[in-house]
Amino acid sequence: MATNRTFTMIKPDAVENNSIGGILKMINEAGFRIVAMKYTKLSAEAAGTFYEIHKERPFYGELVNYMSSGPIVAAILEKNNAVADFRTLIGATDPTKADEGTIRKIYAKSIAANAVHGSDSDENAQIEGDFYFSKLERF
Ligand code: UDP
Ligand code: MG
Repeated sequence: MATNRTFTMIKPDAVENNSIGGILKMINEAGFRIVAMKYTKLSAEAAGTFYEIHKERPFYGELVNYMSSGPIVAAILEKNNAVADFRTLIGATDPTKADEGTIRKIYAKSIAANAVHGSDSDENAQIEGDFYFSKLERF
């Protein structure tokens, strides 16, 4: 059964490009409500922990360096069918393969610097939201 929350990050490339406002506008217009939000920066250690699931993949080192290279926006989002609908809104991992009108098609620079993160399951949405936010920071 689909739950109603997902987790996102606006990644360093999109923050650097002044795309925070445009991306948040697309998120709100797609019907997501912001439950929690933080402008912060990951240490290399924290980025390594967040992406531990990808530890064995060849791009892990590059991903950790990139995700700790500058500030990010982390947020918990609420909507019916949040995880799947948010994946549809952001588009494919590789922006050259992302559908027209998706966040990655519009804002991503490359498969690595692809503008946004979106949880891939309800279980990971819970884990990833808990990584950043206490109960008192959710509204
Ligand atoms: N990534 C990369 N090279 C690849 C695949 C992924 O640099 O070949 C990066 C990219 O930033 C991606 C993240 O690793 O968003 C996590 O990969 P995943 O397969 O989970 O893609 P996502 O769920 O973000 O679409
Ligand atoms: Mg993923």
